[in-house]
Amino acid sequence: MTLFSFGKEKRSRDNNRKFIFVVGGVMSGVGKGIATSSVGTLLEAKGLRVTAIKIDPYINVDAGTMNPTEHGEVFVLDDGDETDQDMGNYERFLNTTLTRINYMTTGRVYQEVIRRERNLEYGGKNVEVVPDIPLEVLRRIKIAADNANADVTLIEIGGTIGEYQNILFLEAARMLKQEYPDDVAFVMVSYLPMPRNIGEIKTKPTQYAARSLNSAGIQADIILARSEVPIDEKRRAKLALFCNVRPEHVISAPDVDSIYDIPLNYERDGLGDALVTILDLPNNRADFGKWKTFVEKSKTATKPLKIAVVGKYFDSGDFVLSDVYISVIEAIKFSSFEVGAKAELTWFNSKDFEKGTKDVSELENFDGVVVPGGFGSSGVEGIISAIRYTRENKIPYLGLCYGMQLATIEYARNVVGLAGAHTTEVNPDTPHPIIAVMDEQREKIAQKKLGGTMRLGKYPASLKKGTQAYAAYGKEEISERHRHRYEVNPAYIEKLEAAGYVFSGQSPDRKLMEIAELPKDAHPFFLGSQFHPELKARPLDPHPLFTAFIKAAVERKRK
Ligand code: GLN
Repeated sequence: MTLFSFGKEKRSRDNNRKFIFVVGGVMSGVGKGIATSSVGTLLEAKGLRVTAIKIDPYINVDAGTMNPTEHGEVFVLDDGDETDQDMGNYERFLNTTLTRINYMTTGRVYQEVIRRERNLEYGGKNVEVVPDIPLEVLRRIKIAADNANADVTLIEIGGTIGEYQNILFLEAARMLKQEYPDDVAFVMVSYLPMPRNIGEIKTKPTQYAARSLNSAGIQADIILARSEVPIDEKRRAKLALFCNVRPEHVISAPDVDSIYDIPLNYERDGLGDALVTILDLPNNRADFGKWKTFVEKSKTATKPLKIAVVGKYFDSGDFVLSDVYISVIEAIKFSSFEVGAKAELTWFNSKDFEKGTKDVSELENFDGVVVPGGFGSSGVEGIISAIRYTRENKIPYLGLCYGMQLATIEYARNVVGLAGAHTTEVNPDTPHPIIAVMDEQREKIAQKKLGGTMRLGKYPASLKKGTQAYAAYGKEEISERHRHRYEVNPAYIEKLEAAGYVFSGQSPDRKLMEIAELPKDAHPFFLGSQFHPELKARPLDPHPLFTAFIKAAVERKRK
């Protein structure tokens, strides 16, 4: 009996799909997403078509309804799906564009099963947690694999083995393996602690994780041993014996300086060989091509550049910063490498500017200032005063979404002279609603339809010739990803432009202002975008706005 039709009937390259599940052992936060992405880069270098799927076990239908300090960055796809930051890693490492079928959560899977049940699509049958939930998971995996016509589909199961939350996803994986034993492989990314007082790597937690995975009916084929330092032969042998894995399929994955080295390290350490052997794939020599050039560029980029990031989600300790702003950080890196620079980021909590524990004049010491996206009122006045400082002191400025809206408010207040100008998001009674909600958004807010209803995903924009934006992109028509409810209020455009503010990018119908900037004779680089350019920055394709900003920062440093 065939449970699922994964096109294995005719074995040809176009329907002989392979699947690699990546699961996490011992604990989260050890780089499962980067590992999955790096496996993808490696397999692509071996000439295979690869796509990647992220499974998050939470009930939220998407990542859009979670606070950034709780969940990290919300990564928006072209099609508007609000997903996990790992989707950003996949897009960057695979240099590809993914769609909403590549992302699933428990909420999303149940929602679909319940929708079908309400439509009588189960024909009067009992609809059961098992197998109907895993079957829906597999249906999605199949669509994603088919859409990408992938030789190999990577499926990263979020969370850690042993949690209740991801058990149905593991069950789906087990079912697929049972049906297609030769076409499914399991990679367990596991953490090996090295307690300071012992001074050596311990394998026991990973042994337990492997056994826990066994109790879900799954045997790991490969163990990616994440640890501070490389594992030695003794530990490799132990892991192999007790986790029931071939010794050469235990791959050492120590901490590295740059995550972009990892695909190359994996190939050197035999992961590519292991995967093609297990899945019976053609073993072409890995040709990393442009990826290698990029990695080399990143190593020779050493000119120091100081960039300040002024934001509002800096309250939960330093360690979350890289999660909340990961795409911004990476976008800055890619563009810096382009010009041989190594950007050092300094984080400013805008609330410190408000409380007076820090002064905006500290920004003088930086080559450029970035204000990333955000929501709500906290820290907003601190950001506005920081923006004023960068404008008046001619420090290169890049504003992303909220960073563009607040720059426009600053200009309205301090140059146009509209006292109390604001966004209605923060002050609904402002005398000058420079940033206001769009009509269709007003309805959604009134009806409390708030999940997945922002202006989301890709929209086209037209650029004005002779502007910084046009110079950066070198073309008139662009497409960028959005995530916001508020917009520049058309009622104020004339006043702002009369005072020297330039809307250099607009929606094709000219109703929505997508990029705002100051002309080059007024400021070396002052630009904000209503969209999030960082979501489309790729190692092999740095984003033109970030590159223009970084070039201006290099220029400031030179002077
Ligand atoms: N809070 C603003 C809005 O909703 C900006 C959003 C953002 O920065 N992503 O329009």
